[in-house]
Amino acid sequence: MKSCPRCESSLDDEARYCVECGAPQTEAAAEELDEYVQRQAQQVAADTGGAGDSTGGGGSDDGFSPAEALSDREQLWRRGCYVLGYGTIVAAITQIPRVGAFPLFLGGVAILPPIRRLTAEPLGSPLKREAMAGLYAIFTLIGVALLLLL
Ligand SMILES: [Zn+2]
Repeated sequence: MKSCPRCESSLDDEARYCVECGAPQTEAAAEELDEYVQRQAQQVAADTGGAGDSTGGGGSDDGFSPAEALSDREQLWRRGCYVLGYGTIVAAITQIPRVGAFPLFLGGVAILPPIRRLTAEPLGSPLKREAMAGLYAIFTLIGVALLLLL
């Protein structure tokens, strides 16, 4: 364990950013953060109309996480997975006495991003997003088929 030089909260040795105050912990992370801030500043300067799409929603869910904010596509994918996952789970719950609800529920759970992170423990690295999307598709198809047939 090491501790953040700025706020003294204890951190993982591998941590690139402080979880408490967001201070970068490595040279690379500091550079990445500088780049990110610069890019945001340019975007704000260019975007005088103020659509505010990426800046508005970014801060609300996970707090300050520049590493993830770096990739808009990653963000979009994550958000899509949550929407799809929770939507499927809710749909499954409404069908719950029926057999098809269970694979549907599993599919919804499988596509949630934290589940993908959990697969990193036994496998060494997280399953590919495509694999989770595949699992989702398989479970959902089975669920829908059961709901239609039974
Ligand atoms: Zn800190």
